[in-house]
Parts: sequence; C-alpha cells; structure tokens
Amino acid sequence: MAQDRRTRSSIRVARIGGIDIRMHWTFLVLVVLVVWLNSGSGSATAASGLVWIVAVFSSVLVHEYAHCVVARRRGAVVQDILLLPIGGLSQLEKMPERAADEFAIAVVGPLASLGLAVIAVAGGLVFGAHLWPPTLFAGPWFARLAWLNILLGVFNLLPALPMDGGRVLRAALEQHDHDRITATRQAGKIARILAVVMIAGGVFYDFWLVFIGVFVYLGAGSEERAVQRPGQGSAGPRPPSAQSSSPE
Ligand SMILES: [Zn+2]
Repeated sequence: MAQDRRTRSSIRVARIGGIDIRMHWTFLVLVVLVVWLNSGSGSATAASGLVWIVAVFSSVLVHEYAHCVVARRRGAVVQDILLLPIGGLSQLEKMPERAADEFAIAVVGPLASLGLAVIAVAGGLVFGAHLWPPTLFAGPWFARLAWLNILLGVFNLLPALPMDGGRVLRAALEQHDHDRITATRQAGKIARILAVVMIAGGVFYDFWLVFIGVFVYLGAGSEERAVQRPGQGSAGPRPPSAQSSSPE
C-alpha cells in the first residue's frame, strides 16, 4: 500500500530501537470491541481482555523485530512496523536481493516466536502452571502465551507465500535453481493451493482462516508481480492465526 495512505490510516504509538510502531485504525476498533464485548461482565473481565491484547501484540512485536533486526543487518531499510487486527507487518524498503538474505530474514520471525514459546513453557514448568490442553483465551497465562507463540511460529512457517514459510521456500528454491522468477512462480502455485485449502477449511471451522486464505491467495499474486520490479517488499506480512487475534 502507498506510504502516504498508510501513514494517514495509522498512528505512531511508539518508537523502539529506531523503528516506528504504527497502529492501524482498525486495530483501535478491535480494542473498543473487546472492551465493549466484555463490559457486561465487569471491568475485571474487560481489563483481562485488554491485557490479553497487549500480550498478543507484544508477541507479534517480538516476531516482527526479529525480522527487522536481521533485515537491517543485511542491508534493508526498515520503514516501520504496522499493527493490524490480523497481526504485524514489517515494512521494508530496499529489500536485499540475495536468496540467503531473504531466507534469514523470513525464518528468524517464526524462530523468535518459538523461542518465546520455550520461555513461556519453562516459566509454566517452574511455576507449576498447567500447559495442557492447548488454550488461548482462558487458563494460566504461561499456557496461553506458550500456545499463542507456538501458533505464531508454526502457522507462519506454512509454505504459503507471502507468509514467512513461503519466503523461506522461495529462497530455498531460488538457491537451488538460481532463478528468482521461477522460484516465485513455484512458491506462488503452492501458496494458492494452500490458500484454497484454508478457505475451504475455514468455511467449516473458523472464519478467520477464510480471511487469511484470501490474503494468501491475493498476496501470492502480488509477490509474483513484484519480482518484475525488485527493490520493494515487506518481510513476512504475518497474519497470525484466527484465534490469536480475533476479538474475544
Ligand atoms: Zn514473520
């Protein structure tokens, strides 16, 4: 999306490590919705809903910062991190062209999420919190954070361009064939198949999966067009799963 339009539709909420964190207006709608949905059950429930939103987006920010730090180290210019109700988006300029760079930038986000999950599991074990069965919206905080970050890590590793796993796949294919356009077409084909599976599965299980499937389907097409005009990109538009960001 165009820089000026993005700036108009989002507000800067913080600047950490020289990177602006911007919040899209739709994210504010999510916050209002959570407070409103929980207001009937008392202020403690509303507060707990808000704490959960903060926890979700702190997890997303750690994931995005991991992308940004590696991207910078490899010569990219980081514009900002945009928070959307479906997750975070690291906006990069001057994307490194080498497949090895794309591989490193893409893979580090999910690895950071899985690292957070390991820390949450360790905390849960130390403090005797129940980590099983999987839970996101209720139960011990250690368990919720562990499962949230497992979800963020694993879901983003799905080989569906433009998600992180799709970028990892494209970079691996490119390293094999030394041809970015062919690698992108192959990765795009796999992404579209996965998108159709997500949309079909989402109809039966979870509407957010439909939403993410459409995002992947359209995103794969724009990645294919983008290889024709290199130099722009975003590292891992990162829609987390349905549950991790849906209004409670
Ligand atoms: Zn990512």
